Amino acid sequence: MAFLEVPHNCADSAAALPAPAPAERLPVFLWRGGAPPRKLGPVDHVVVVPLLVLLSAKLGAELALARLNGREIRRHAGALPAALEGVMDRATYQKAAAYSLAKNAFGQRETLFGAVVLAAVVLSGVLPWSLARWTQALGAGQWSEAAWIAAVGLALALVDLPLDWWGTFRLEARFGFNQSTPALWLTDKLKAGALVVALGVPLLWVVLSLVGWAGREWWLWAFAVVMGFQLVMIVAYPKLILPLFNKLTPLAAGELKTELLALADRTGFQARTIEVIDGSKRSGHSNAFFTGFGRFRRIVLFDTLIAQLDRAELAAVLAHEIGHYKRGHIPKMLLLSAGLLLGGFAAIAWLARSPWFCPAFGFPAATPAPALLLFALLGGLVTFWLSPLLNAVSRRYEYEADAFARAALGGPAPLVGALRRLAEKNLSNLTPHPWFSTFHYSHPTLLERERALAGGLPR
Ligand SMILES: [Zn+2]
Repeated sequence: MAFLEVPHNCADSAAALPAPAPAERLPVFLWRGGAPPRKLGPVDHVVVVPLLVLLSAKLGAELALARLNGREIRRHAGALPAALEGVMDRATYQKAAAYSLAKNAFGQRETLFGAVVLAAVVLSGVLPWSLARWTQALGAGQWSEAAWIAAVGLALALVDLPLDWWGTFRLEARFGFNQSTPALWLTDKLKAGALVVALGVPLLWVVLSLVGWAGREWWLWAFAVVMGFQLVMIVAYPKLILPLFNKLTPLAAGELKTELLALADRTGFQARTIEVIDGSKRSGHSNAFFTGFGRFRRIVLFDTLIAQLDRAELAAVLAHEIGHYKRGHIPKMLLLSAGLLLGGFAAIAWLARSPWFCPAFGFPAATPAPALLLFALLGGLVTFWLSPLLNAVSRRYEYEADAFARAALGGPAPLVGALRRLAEKNLSNLTPHPWFSTFHYSHPTLLERERALAGGLPR
């Protein structure tokens, strides 16, 4: 639950899930013992046509949305919308428009590149080929297949690295945001890759093994395991993972801390500590977030945020984050993601059981590991169309947290001040096209938040 729209393209959540088959009826793991696999088939037109339709529909929609967005930014680039008079001076506003346009253009290139890579990977037959080679070299079995899925994920991340580099060291740097160095950037990537191997492979192994252990209902068990993993990660992430990348320190004693803790007490949050993260080591962007639940709840402020806002504005940000806690947004979001996860596993179970699915992509038989990987790769083609719905839920929570902050602070002024200051410092796009924000923004725009804060509760 972040305070602001995160100023980067949100990657599709790659929920890597399992795939199943009634073990007693289907050859679950075909290539035991290093025998040469059955002949690989070509990718079947039965899936090629619908796949290309889905791919082009998403690609076409994304490019069209980006074009609309670019046009909208240019249309307003001359002058700030009247309602936002005073948010930024003219020069900053021009710079924000240029930054928004540059990100928009970059996003289009990323979208196009991603679609081409996805089509190539799925339709070229490289996946069944690589699995056959992989199992020949490493043997068959769940460990090997789990590692293959992770290896494909890492290979795809590798292909994305040049764009990532350009985004950090060209785009973000051009607008004065980048603080990362090539060494830090590279270390980040290596650590992230190591985490995928250390956490992802064992989790995939459990999920794939459940097919043999639990039989036909394996996917319900897999859902429970992955959901449990998510719950553990919510608690463990800020304690164990985040410190691998950033330094978290308790807010230093002083007037600010006293005031913020008093606010936390007053609103029933009862914080023992508020943490500060050294976001400035990578980027000049600022934000704050709330995570965890129960006694594991945590509020984290970026050091850049503390540098940019005054005390009243920081209190407003804190009150907003406490609003997420008091309104139960984390458990509600968890429930929503549990529903999606269960749906995802049901789909994977069905696909892995369907004799046509894996062979249609060139795999020798219906098996869980390929079905799982294909689902992870292709699921986004379908879930993309759900993003307006998920964003609408998220935006509703943002309005609720804003309303909570307004009530806690006795008026909207400090929160409006914070939002305006951060829009200025982050060079936020103040005029995204409404359709673009419907698909891509988990937070309402500045104008929408101000309107809601000025009026009644947005519900
Ligand atoms: Zn929020």
